[in-house]
Amino acid sequence: MELRKVFQFEAAHLLPHLPDSHKCRRLHGHSFIVEMAIEGDVDPALGWVMDYADISAAFKPVWEQLDHRYLNEISGLENPTSESIAAWIWERLKPSVPLLKELIVAETCTARCVYRGG
Ligand SMILES: [Zn+2]
Repeated sequence: MELRKVFQFEAAHLLPHLPDSHKCRRLHGHSFIVEMAIEGDVDPALGWVMDYADISAAFKPVWEQLDHRYLNEISGLENPTSESIAAWIWERLKPSVPLLKELIVAETCTARCVYRGG
């Protein structure tokens, strides 16, 4: 069984390795969407895989490091592409959410990065 929970954070970034002519080289912001997929067996007594509230609680300290921040200033996010943000969140979340199976980071409504660890 799989659970999915969606979070949002607002942040600014620029991609420093791109040429000056690329729009993503300029400072700009996104309303990032983070979607987590949790996979596991349904607990026969509780009838669920995991409490959604526990997913939210696990993400909160990560969210606090990202929301309304300039991502380039965060250690490990000096080149804050969606790919590196997804891997960065995964590293911090996986220890407290071992059932984490997939993590999606979307910068816009039409562009998203899917990370499954490793
Ligand atoms: Zn961007």
